[in-house]
Amino acid sequence: MILLEARNLAVNYGGIRALKGIGLRVNEGEVVCLIGANGAGKSTTLRALAGLAPVFAGRVTYLREEITDLPAHQRVRRGLALVPEGRGVFPRLTVEENLLMGAYTRNDKAAIRSDLERGFTLFPRLAERRDQLAGTLSGGEQQMLAMARALMSRPRLLLLDEPSMGLSPIMVQKIFDTIRAIAADGVTLLLVEQNARLALEVSQRGLVMEGGEVVFSAPAATMLADRRVREAYLGA
Ligand code: ATP
Repeated sequence: MILLEARNLAVNYGGIRALKGIGLRVNEGEVVCLIGANGAGKSTTLRALAGLAPVFAGRVTYLREEITDLPAHQRVRRGLALVPEGRGVFPRLTVEENLLMGAYTRNDKAAIRSDLERGFTLFPRLAERRDQLAGTLSGGEQQMLAMARALMSRPRLLLLDEPSMGLSPIMVQKIFDTIRAIAADGVTLLLVEQNARLALEVSQRGLVMEGGEVVFSAPAATMLADRRVREAYLGA
């Protein structure tokens, strides 16, 4: 089943055409990654799908309904959540308080508690730090917290913007292990990553963006083997 579809999606920032009418599809249960150079429009794509970028033209459908003009918080209620680049945890709240903020759209208290414990199982590092102020966590721990917080909204589709940015190799590995675990739980994922190789390794399909357009799309295994993709994005 097609979970999310964008058609001719265009975003302008003043005179800058950040997205020039892109199309993409994400099927239920898939992991899809968006790769491309700096400024290609990857973050803008995720922000537009989350309801956080000014859509100038085109349409977005999710669960067969048009959501192009739906406010971001209503998309979260429907199960479409974004973990933005730069994380945005609440620095003066504890780890646990941050996680509970992620459940603000819900009122099923018992289920929230059990999801909180599920989050701590997925991210043991956060469990050890549940009463620590989020602002004092390391970069990798803050990334984990941002992901765990987004999961507290019980997303059906999670948009992840550069989850490995600025992290040590060990932490990057941990984040990608967790991405696999989240996918195994049945959450559909659309991932933007500078680390194209790791992203393609966890994905079923990849899309390459250039200059605000999707220029290539293929199964991840095909992309990992493609000479042009390897030379341009995999450093091989
Ligand atoms: P990176 O990998 O560097 O994050 P990206 O592929 O995610 O790049 P975007 O962040 O989507 O690229 O940016 C696409 C284009 O839109 C860039 O030219 C950028 O400068 C521009 N842009 C993005 N956000 C804004 C904004 N809020 N105001 C003005 N221009 C913007």
